Amino acid sequence: MRILLLEDNPVNQTLIASQLKKLGHQVDTVSNGQQGFLRATSNQYDIFLCDILMPHWDGFKFIEAMTVVCPTMPIVVISSSIATNDLVNKLKPYSNICAILAKPLDMVKLSAILQETSSQSHENLGKMARIVCTIGPSSNKQEVINKMIMAGMDVARLNFSHGSYESHEKVLNMIRHAEKEWMRPVAVLMDLCGPKIRTGNMQDGMATLVPGEMVIIQAADIEGTSQRFSTIAPEILGDLRVGDPILLDDGLLELKVEKAGVNEVHCRVLVGGKLKSHKGINLPATPLSLPCLTAKDKADLAWGMEHSVDFVALSFVRSVDDIVELKELIRKTGTRKIHVVAKIEKPEAMENIDAIIDATDVIMIARGDLGVEIPASRVPWIQRQIIKKCWEKNKPVITATQMLETMTQNARPTRAEVTDVSLAIQEGTDAVMLSGETAAGVDPVNVVRTMASIICESERHLEQKLDHNQILVDKTDINPALSAAASLGLAAATLVIDFGNNLYQHMSKWNRRTPTLLATNSIHSARHACIYKNVIPIITKEELSRDQLVFWAISEAKDRGYLVGGDILAVVEGARKTQGGIDQMGAFQLIRVA
Ligand code: ATP
Ligand code: MG
Ligand code: MG
Repeated sequence: MRILLLEDNPVNQTLIASQLKKLGHQVDTVSNGQQGFLRATSNQYDIFLCDILMPHWDGFKFIEAMTVVCPTMPIVVISSSIATNDLVNKLKPYSNICAILAKPLDMVKLSAILQETSSQSHENLGKMARIVCTIGPSSNKQEVINKMIMAGMDVARLNFSHGSYESHEKVLNMIRHAEKEWMRPVAVLMDLCGPKIRTGNMQDGMATLVPGEMVIIQAADIEGTSQRFSTIAPEILGDLRVGDPILLDDGLLELKVEKAGVNEVHCRVLVGGKLKSHKGINLPATPLSLPCLTAKDKADLAWGMEHSVDFVALSFVRSVDDIVELKELIRKTGTRKIHVVAKIEKPEAMENIDAIIDATDVIMIARGDLGVEIPASRVPWIQRQIIKKCWEKNKPVITATQMLETMTQNARPTRAEVTDVSLAIQEGTDAVMLSGETAAGVDPVNVVRTMASIICESERHLEQKLDHNQILVDKTDINPALSAAASLGLAAATLVIDFGNNLYQHMSKWNRRTPTLLATNSIHSARHACIYKNVIPIITKEELSRDQLVFWAISEAKDRGYLVGGDILAVVEGARKTQGGIDQMGAFQLIRVA
């Protein structure tokens, strides 16, 4: 059997492992719960043997986390304090515990248990790509958020099109609480609505538009009918020109402008149907005079600046000026650095895509509205192009919308959805996003677990793409130490030391085999790193010298299971002045971990 043994006492660990090996079992050993979790989620085992009192995640934490990610894996608890009823009671809620044994272990008893255990195979969850989850009514509870983090959530998204400041603040506090409890940074992304145009109120909530008939959209507020209705953004009427298409309710209905006007616009119904109150209006061919940042967006941003938000996403970005304006606002409003996510969902954004990628911190391919504004058939190709450009320009990219849509209702995804997630990973996306699946779905934790297992499986078969490799060769402005580290096969991990905070961003794109450990003294940098694939932040608390920092990072990485004695660690440094006053461009060092 393949056994993972968690035991912090080295004497006990060696003894139990050798006894089990003698019986013909395969045994891996770790010394704390966090190491155990990492090992268990990146390897296959049949059973776990788990001590209770351990540093750095005790047995309870390990058991709780495993219950989330592999609910059926059997665990045998081994404890010296077996006598206490307290322990038995505390372990009662966990159905995956098959026995509690006292130390020293009765090997006959243990053998009997192992014999009864059927060989298990669980899905791996040790993923590199990131998962962004929208938090909504189904997931805005502390317990659910904790479990979502265990299952693989890296970034929590708060959609400011929905919810109140109070509800968003509650979620934010839950995320920060979970971060502390599970010793893992989690980023928070606030999504601003931007100029989302919607219909006004309809009489009885709904009107039926008949194909071939005329319908008027008017500026003055009115209870809408099949003859005329209003919009929450009357400014757009003056922008509409004869011949412009108007798409309603995610493109389900379509109109065409026949007579323009500032107060009312006459339209022919091309595709009819039922039109409800507050449905989206998309104007793919009309140049809009609406500002990208609305008054509501500005108020929301001010809220974000006062709370511990790490990323702000701007919807319906059209030009690089929209990003510049938002960045300027952030700079003026406060001292905190909030990183900007540009949501690509307008045809104009595609025309200016290079400049937008250059200006923003992160790109999001918002496939929902994008597929309404342009023919949906073009979305896959655009997705591929944007991901490739983000490689060239070294920007992280999130692929979003409907990735596991049917899991909003169902326990299993469709095969087509699985393929969609897998393709995005193969194309090189840094993150994938869940919207309604986690905000309003039946089982958000299950969705995250499913997403993680698809990512993990896809990453096992990744080929280093040739065009991506070529970027590495072509780029001349890159720290040469990076290319050395990224292509190094023998290192167990790479440690990045760079207080300029951009080396890891390159490393994230290029090193997709072994973990990139980012040493940082700032929780904010650690949270920002959460959107970068395969970057594991290690927070150093005090001001340390360069060598102290390396020691600290190694010991922390060992505690967390990323390194074991005998491993080779590659250390990459950014430009700095050395103690001897030498202007160093970058440095690359190999260390044998003690
Ligand atoms: P966007 O175009 O910005 O993605 P959306 O309406 O599609 O807006 P999502 O964030 O994709 O919203 O979430 C999907 C659904 O989940 C929403 O339509 C809404 O019903 C629900 N939802 C999301 N966040 C919240 C929230 N904070 N409160 C209530 N419902 C929410
Ligand atoms: Mg949107
Ligand atoms: Mg959405």
